[in-house]
Amino acid sequence: MAFVANKPIKNIMTFDLEEWFHILDLPDNPNSELRTKTVYRAEQGLEIFLELIERHHITCTFFVLGWLAERNPGIIRKIDTSRHEIASHGYGHEMITSLKPEEFREDISRAKKILEDLTGREVNGYRGPGFSITEKNMWAFDCISEAGYSYDATLYPGKHGHGGISGMPIHPFFLVTHNGNRLEEYPVSLMTFGAFRMAFSGGGYFRLLPAFFISACFRLLNAKRIPVCSYFHPRDLDINVPRLPMPAYRRFKCYVNIAKTHGKLTQIMKAHNFCSVNDWRREKNLLPEISLVKRPFSSQGGK
Ligand SMILES: [Zn+2]
Repeated sequence: MAFVANKPIKNIMTFDLEEWFHILDLPDNPNSELRTKTVYRAEQGLEIFLELIERHHITCTFFVLGWLAERNPGIIRKIDTSRHEIASHGYGHEMITSLKPEEFREDISRAKKILEDLTGREVNGYRGPGFSITEKNMWAFDCISEAGYSYDATLYPGKHGHGGISGMPIHPFFLVTHNGNRLEEYPVSLMTFGAFRMAFSGGGYFRLLPAFFISACFRLLNAKRIPVCSYFHPRDLDINVPRLPMPAYRRFKCYVNIAKTHGKLTQIMKAHNFCSVNDWRREKNLLPEISLVKRPFSSQGGK
């Protein structure tokens, strides 16, 4: 691993700032109806999270949905942007797999402009909804780079319901895209068990798994000098979040153990070091370079 040796390893803390109904791929997608008459409550979960990271002196990257920032610009002002990083979660929270390249370009450029106008700072990072880059839409990496972002955090380097590319690295790296663009990539952290890879550091996986197991995964990856990338949403911490109608297995994954997240996250924040993506980049870790042209990932197995 080419990251800076003999320094205590820092993990990466991220938060996707979106509303409680921005849940993807439901049979009766309620988004369009809710957009006109909903109760907004992303601030509740955000405030709980902000208190936690302040208490543990953690800097964080907030991937903010452009749609939400446009309707509720005050939510950005709750975040101390001199310490924490504002990055982009795109505008409309559509899965990238459902968009044409020109629609995707429009979505991510629109979000970047809204967030930069609101913060007066350059927005460098992007994370797409639902980790929805697959082997079929890797053109998205070129769109992200060409829209002016310098890094992406959408990649799920394994099998996932909405996306994922098996065989991609589980550590940060420089991606050389099909068009020859260079994009820093910060994948979701996965643990490897034989041929099986599993997330543990955010969202439903974090809520479901016990703290001792999550902590052991942090130690195992950190021992290899690999930073863990964690990700949370307002609804992961908001015990009164309204529940959307959905099939039982989705309901379980979306809402299991919300009441336990605060305590578990406190334990993990006490035990491990975290910082924002931008702070991690400032440490000038050397990233290995991986070219999409040279390596067709579909044939790379679980490495
Ligand atoms: Zn999202």
